[in-house]
Amino acid sequence: MSRPCRWVRGFELWSTPRQVLLYVLIVDAAALAASVATTGMLPVTATDWTRLAVLFGCAIAHVEGSRRIERTRKLTAGTGPFVDGLTPWHWCAVLVLPASLASVLVIALQSYVWFRVWRGRRPLYRWVFSAATVLLATQASALVLAEAPGPHPGIPLGWIGLGFVIAAAVLRWLINYALILGAILASSPDLRASQLLSKFTEQIVEAGAMAFGLAAAGLLEFDVRLLVVGMVGGLIAFHRTLLLGQFRDDARTDGKTGLHTPAWWHQIATSALQRATATRMSAGVLMLDLDHFKRVNDAHGHVAGDLVLRAVADAITEAVRSYDAACRWGGEEFAVLLPEVTTTELRSIAERILRQVRALVVDITADDTADTVDDLTISIGGALYPSPAITDLTELQVAADTALYDAKHAGRDRVHLAGEHVSPPAPNPREAPGQDHRPL
Ligand code: GH3
Ligand code: MG
Ligand code: MG
Repeated sequence: MSRPCRWVRGFELWSTPRQVLLYVLIVDAAALAASVATTGMLPVTATDWTRLAVLFGCAIAHVEGSRRIERTRKLTAGTGPFVDGLTPWHWCAVLVLPASLASVLVIALQSYVWFRVWRGRRPLYRWVFSAATVLLATQASALVLAEAPGPHPGIPLGWIGLGFVIAAAVLRWLINYALILGAILASSPDLRASQLLSKFTEQIVEAGAMAFGLAAAGLLEFDVRLLVVGMVGGLIAFHRTLLLGQFRDDARTDGKTGLHTPAWWHQIATSALQRATATRMSAGVLMLDLDHFKRVNDAHGHVAGDLVLRAVADAITEAVRSYDAACRWGGEEFAVLLPEVTTTELRSIAERILRQVRALVVDITADDTADTVDDLTISIGGALYPSPAITDLTELQVAADTALYDAKHAGRDRVHLAGEHVSPPAPNPREAPGQDHRPL
């Protein structure tokens, strides 16, 4: 077999699932066909080549100035579509270059980034696919702009022209987003909607990047020196702040369960109590501790234990109201803050958590061994603010924690609210006689 043949046969693409392979090949072929079809649409002049060179140079300076940040962003991004740092330049090219040169810029930039940032770290077919989505979006938006009033290529004129720019921008975004969403779905059909849709802030970043692209197009037509000095510097500075949001989210989210961290939860709870005081409303806190969790670890291992923690966190999130705040307090303990809640509601929500946890069947299949954990229970203590002896968050938490202690002592798998009568330990059918009912 010749070397090129062996190289092609070695592509990771061929070992992807059938539906992914088919999807990727169709998108790649469509991008190629669309790029060829729009090639002769507008003549290419010497000015266009100069503009292409200027944009390529600016984009390279931008890539080099934000290379490390871009890699960190990508590696730590969630499962949803990722907003590319090259968007301003791709979009600017659609506005000021004939479609054929805009395609050349897309291919040149994607290749440069692949070699400088991703070579050896990501399979080649992914790079080709991501270039194909941008190419398709580029051709579609170029077709819209071709109908706009004003010079071609060039920024459309007047309010109607602006309308065309916005329509082309929305179409570009839509095509890109839908194609990438399709690829994620084809490779991981089991992902939940919340994991699929990228965070809203990412879409604000995309809108901001397109606005930068439009400004870059204006500067390119007005004075290229301003573009080089102002836009590149501005974009690198903008890019450097992108990670701030991610760092903030990381500091607020518990990695193992996806719930809030205790520090962030404490801030939420403090504000909720202040609001409750100001509006003369109430707020409740639930403290939760899994029953005999050591046994889960002992029987199935710590990795399985972690999967159980995630499933319990999801069950808690499902059982509480959308505006309640749940955190992983530590280990296998959780806390929930419930604004504007009555004692009856507090108990009924806590009992809903109790039922959801009892009903959990957690799949902990690893390698070849299929296994599940399905005998989980949790103990819950709750307290309400304001109450006679509860005047701040610390007292509220201590009261809920003491109630949790009582729930454990009374036999586990139950809710106890502060101020309620503590029932004596009830026999637990799941425990053999004589077993320890060790409190927290
Ligand atoms: P009890 O009903 O009295 O609460 O019994 P328990 O076994 O749950 O006891 P306790 O709450 O004192 O023990 C918590 C155990 O949870 C100890 C530790 O092995 C386990 N654990 C704590 N954090 C983690 C974690 O992040 N992952 C895993 N897999 N296990 C953890
Ligand atoms: Mg514990
Ligand atoms: Mg426990």
